[in-house]
Amino acid sequence: MAAYQFNVVGYIQSPYKQKFAIPRQPGLIAEATGYLVLENEYNDEAILRGIDSFSHLWLLFVFHETADKGWSPMVRPPRLGGNARKGVFATRATFRPNPIGLSVVKLDGVERKNGKLMLKISGIDLLDGTPVIDIKPYLPYSDALPNAAGGFADAAPSTAMTVSFTETASIFCQQQIQYPDLQLFIEKVLKQDPRPSYKKQRDGEQSYGMTLYNYNIKWTVNGEHNHVTEIHQLPE
Ligand code: SAM
Repeated sequence: MAAYQFNVVGYIQSPYKQKFAIPRQPGLIAEATGYLVLENEYNDEAILRGIDSFSHLWLLFVFHETADKGWSPMVRPPRLGGNARKGVFATRATFRPNPIGLSVVKLDGVERKNGKLMLKISGIDLLDGTPVIDIKPYLPYSDALPNAAGGFADAAPSTAMTVSFTETASIFCQQQIQYPDLQLFIEKVLKQDPRPSYKKQRDGEQSYGMTLYNYNIKWTVNGEHNHVTEIHQLPE
C-alpha cells in the first residue's frame, strides 16, 4: 500500500481547549475565532500572496487528539442519537483510516505577531493545537452546491435549548474586555447542547463543565434549559 508523509504547515490557536463542546462542524458559531500560526518554513508573506481576496478557506488538518485511537468501518453518528451505525466514509467522524479533518473557515485577516505570520479565522470547529497540513481557498462557484443532498445530516443541528446566566456569571463576562463576545459565545456553545447522546436521555438536573479560552465554565441542564452557574479564570 502506498504511504505518503505530509508536513504540518501550521498550528491552530483556538478557544476550544478540549474536545467536549466543540461544534460538530465549522460555521455554526461565528464567535469561535482563532489563529492559524504558520510554521517556520512557511513563515513568509509570499506564501499567502492573494489569499486576502478570499472570504473563506478550506483547512485540512490532523485529528491529533484522537489519531492514535485507530478507526472502525462503522460509526454511530451523534446526529442519529448514537443509535444507528453508518459507514465511516458516510460520516465526518474523527476515527477514520487517515485521521484527516476538513473544515471551511472564515478568513478575518492576515497578521504578523512576534515575528510569526498567522491567519485570523472564525467559525472554527478545531481543538487548540490542531496541526494543519494544507490551506486552500474556498471557491464558491465550485464548492457551494445549493442542491446537494445532505443525507442524515440535512440541516444544521438544533439550537433549541435555552440559556441563562447567574447575575455574577453575566457580570464576569462583561468585565472580560479582551473577549467582548464571551457571553454570546458561551450561549451559542450551550444552545447546541454539547452533551453526549446518552446523557441527553437522562432525567433530572445535571452539572457540566468546559474550558473556553482560559475560562472554566460550569452549568446545569434541566430539560431543555442550560443555566450557567460559575465562570472562573484559569492561570495562563
Ligand atoms: N469539520 C471537520 C470534518 O468534517 O472533517 C471536523 C468534523 S468532526 C465531526 C468535529 C469534531 O472534531 C469536533 O466536535 C471536535 O470534537 C473534534 N475535533 C476538532 N479538532 C480535533 C483534533 N485536533 N483532534 C481530535 N478531534 C478534534
